[in-house]
Amino acid sequence: MVLPFKHEPFTDFSVEQNRKEFEAALEQVKGQLGQDYPLVINGEKIFTDDKLVSYNPGNKEEVVGRVSKATKQHVDQAMESAEEAFKTWRKWTAVERAEILYRAAAIVRRRKHEFSAWLVYDGNKPWGQADADTAEGIDFMEYYARHMIELAKGKEINDRVGEENTYFYQAMGPGVTIPPWNFAFAIVAGTTVAPIVAGNPVLLKPSENTPVIAYKLVEVLEEAGLPKGVVSFLPGDPAEIGDYLVDHPSTHFINFTGSRATGTRIIERASKVQEGQKHLKRVIAEMGGKDTIIVDDNADLDLAAESIVYSAFGFSGQKCSACSRAVIHKDVYDEVLEKTIDKAKEITVGNPAEENAYMGAVVNQKQFDKIKEYTEIGKKEGELVFGGETDDSKGYFVHPTIFKDVDPEARLMQEEIFGPVVAFTKANDFDELLDIANNTEYGLTGAVISNNREHLNRARYDFHVGNLYFNRGCTGAIVGYQPFGGFKMSGTDSKAGGPDYLQHFLEAKTLSQAF
Ligand code: GLU
Repeated sequence: MVLPFKHEPFTDFSVEQNRKEFEAALEQVKGQLGQDYPLVINGEKIFTDDKLVSYNPGNKEEVVGRVSKATKQHVDQAMESAEEAFKTWRKWTAVERAEILYRAAAIVRRRKHEFSAWLVYDGNKPWGQADADTAEGIDFMEYYARHMIELAKGKEINDRVGEENTYFYQAMGPGVTIPPWNFAFAIVAGTTVAPIVAGNPVLLKPSENTPVIAYKLVEVLEEAGLPKGVVSFLPGDPAEIGDYLVDHPSTHFINFTGSRATGTRIIERASKVQEGQKHLKRVIAEMGGKDTIIVDDNADLDLAAESIVYSAFGFSGQKCSACSRAVIHKDVYDEVLEKTIDKAKEITVGNPAEENAYMGAVVNQKQFDKIKEYTEIGKKEGELVFGGETDDSKGYFVHPTIFKDVDPEARLMQEEIFGPVVAFTKANDFDELLDIANNTEYGLTGAVISNNREHLNRARYDFHVGNLYFNRGCTGAIVGYQPFGGFKMSGTDSKAGGPDYLQHFLEAKTLSQAF
């Protein structure tokens, strides 16, 4: 019997044995750095001359891997093999497909530290964050497998005399997954295995920043018994193959997580019916965030500071759920700011491949430059009260940075930075706290730190975010516990890790039989 879903526990790195085991995994992976990786098309490994080189962001000289680059011809071949595989994969029972995911989850669980170690090198994730990323990937497999078995039962509808009616779900056809680099295992796994367990082959185009860990996922799926052609691995230049994957007439869905600019571009392109296309494309888009923690006047102020620090600086703020705006009641503003600065002082910054620092390097030069630029903007728009230091001599290191007295309409308060920068602003009462929280074009996550039940109840309906948290931080959604996805320009509210997610990759069919 399949046990009910339970999320994968996190590793406690305060236990010496766990630290030792993790260090051993880092050593083991270090010995495997710098290798060449192929494309995977129809189960075949294809090495191309042109390669993407993935570096460790914390040590720019360390090559994590050289990954083959797919061309448009490769996309065509992969799509052909996906269409062929679809003919049989769609007819596997839900249980048979789910078993592949259970097996894949078991393989990753057995090699958990090894996967997390790859995340440390490929994305410079601190240990705890890498461990949570791997755990979340396992969770997605375990959760979607069970959920598909549930959905395969269909839903109840009514019969009439002389008529039997059935409502069930079936797969759509091949589609494309374009995941981000910031959850280089979890989101890659989740956005790939969900359409697959629903019966659809996937062409996976990983991020250029973190392609090696994505390849490791594909290896695991193959080892778990996924038939050839059901997943293709197609790293490449977005400029060369990005639009081509989206525009392809055989693409049925695009499962995208990334920037607002790319997401809206995909939505626009996917809406155009291409020559030879006989269906409408669906787009599932998880885009940016500009997430706020509100602190009310009667709140637990230590909890407020802790929540802001963890949500703003965990993985250097490189989460679309990260807190980049702290909107504080005027009566407690100074105290919350002071407590936040005190806690931020404890943060260590370093290369997690060498030490278990709280924050590693940010992902690449482009992001490093962008964060630096916003720090300069912040100095004009508010007052820099903590941090602001950057150092890209060895890796792309940015220190936790706090600005105060920033106008709610300022760029620092409106634009997604994707770095360890948080801006504080003051409000007179709860109405204003909420107004400011809602005044961005995004609506992904938000948190309210308050002990006033009436205020919390108002926020329940009037704080317009897809993931709303009370008396905790605004990051760290867990599969099956906090289905994740946002409103407004944050995306299509597709709620990854939730009970409505798989339906995005399924067509509901009504069968009515007359007797
Ligand atoms: N699910 C993650 C969280 O709750 C964020 C995902 C993302 O950044 O894309 O923190």
